Amino acid sequence: MTINTDVVIIGAGPCGLFQIFELGLLDIKAHVVDSLKQPGGQCSELYPDKPIYDIPALPICGAQELVDRLKQQIKPFNTKFHLGQTVTRLEHTEDGRFLLETSSGTRFDTATVILSAGLGAFQPRRLRVKGAEAWEGSNIHYKVSNAGAVVGKDLIILGGGDSALDWALELHGKANSITLVHRRVEYRAQPASVSKMKSLAASGTLEEFHGNVRAVFESEGAFGGLDIVDHDGQQHRVHAEQVFVFWGLSPNLGPIADWGLDLDKRQVNVNTENFQTSIPGIFAVGDINTYPGKKKLILSGFHEAALAAFGVQKYIHPEQKVRLQYTTTSPIMHKRLGIEE
Ligand code: FAD
Repeated sequence: MTINTDVVIIGAGPCGLFQIFELGLLDIKAHVVDSLKQPGGQCSELYPDKPIYDIPALPICGAQELVDRLKQQIKPFNTKFHLGQTVTRLEHTEDGRFLLETSSGTRFDTATVILSAGLGAFQPRRLRVKGAEAWEGSNIHYKVSNAGAVVGKDLIILGGGDSALDWALELHGKANSITLVHRRVEYRAQPASVSKMKSLAASGTLEEFHGNVRAVFESEGAFGGLDIVDHDGQQHRVHAEQVFVFWGLSPNLGPIADWGLDLDKRQVNVNTENFQTSIPGIFAVGDINTYPGKKKLILSGFHEAALAAFGVQKYIHPEQKVRLQYTTTSPIMHKRLGIEE
């Protein structure tokens, strides 16, 4: 069965979610596809428990809380989500529409497509050493899904970027021990986090280690920890119950890279008037797009989603005159939002 629609949004991160809202205000219905099993993109997948401080009018907002608030805001539009599916195919049809297909075989015949696919389908860089695969999910993790579960445990955190340092600081004092392992002496994380971590290491309450992971070892049939080789070639056996690998995501634009869009270093060039790409009818908002001065921030994506919605409306209904209306005073918008007059 092919679903006929005006818009398919690829990616249910914060920008894709707000895109639903902006389209809804203009009475445009969308279907949303995401390869993850839940909406929220990077916020839910990479840093759900962390506070965000630069969302306008919300001085502090947890990343998952932001996603939950966005989900609440789009409720009036009853949007259909197709989760756990990756868009694998896009074809331009002769009548100027688009045919999309997902990894689960869902097909769409749509007038427009909005890419809000962020970094592409998520793939954390994995720990590829002997024996590691068997312990993934139980003792080797690529995100902290439940910070409470590591209380009192011995941890190894791998990485030198913001995620590794932030989690080392966050879990310090909760875990029984933390060994932070980074292959280089220099860190990519914020200098303030690095200096906090260094002072904990100097006080002896966190172990800082430089070297490369060689293997996983077992202890009496259970997970034992990691064998790590330092810069002098010495092997060290570091015991741990849980290992968190924060080596970043390998951005995988996947099939999107093959759709003939004008790309700049694997990001999609857009016209900032309406966030349309080089292919009329395909728009791009959020981290996936680029233009002079682009900043990969959630608030930039929100602005882009508002203008893309107007762009979509003009594309679908070129004959209609679009009038800007305020949500405060517009009866028609109140009706769309389900607000009783
Ligand atoms: P994403 O959140 O990346 O979501 C894209 C979605 O598209 C994903 O769910 C992915 O699965 C899906 N997808 C991709 N390809 C396909 C496909 N082919 N088919 C189906 N689905 C697909 N920003 C701020 O503004 N303030 C902050 O304080 C802040 N802190 C951050 C802290 C960390 C640790 C990190 C990693 C990022 C932070 N950011 C912050 C950046 C912010 O999270 C991103 O700018 C934002 O998530 C981008 O939203 P998005 O909707 O464009 O993309």
